[in-house]
Amino acid sequence: MRTPAGTECSYYYADFHRGREKQACRLIENNPEGGRWEPDLCARCPVPRIQLANACPHMILEGRVKKGLLGLGRGIEVSAYCLRSMQDVSEPEIGCGQCHLDLPNIQTSSEQS
Ligand code: SF4
Repeated sequence: MRTPAGTECSYYYADFHRGREKQACRLIENNPEGGRWEPDLCARCPVPRIQLANACPHMILEGRVKKGLLGLGRGIEVSAYCLRSMQDVSEPEIGCGQCHLDLPNIQTSSEQS
């Protein structure tokens, strides 16, 4: 679903049908310590970029609202974990690398000659 920031995010939910005004972030809702989400946070969230770069079905994300001093620097903090390799994923856009090992070897042009 398209967020208020214009990005695509599977965690965003909105319902403006028949006068309803419901917006939610399922990522923050799923974390009991996620904090208080507001729609403007989508503009500073890394999740749409992560989902665009990496669609690994084994990786799960956890998010929380990062409070800034006097409201400055507020944003979404995201951590990732791989259910397959059972480890934290330090770069969610890339993944942990475990699934890359299953891919057939790709030869570079210099290796082919
Ligand atoms: S805050 Fe991030 S994860 Fe939550 S709905 Fe917005 S873009 Fe998606």
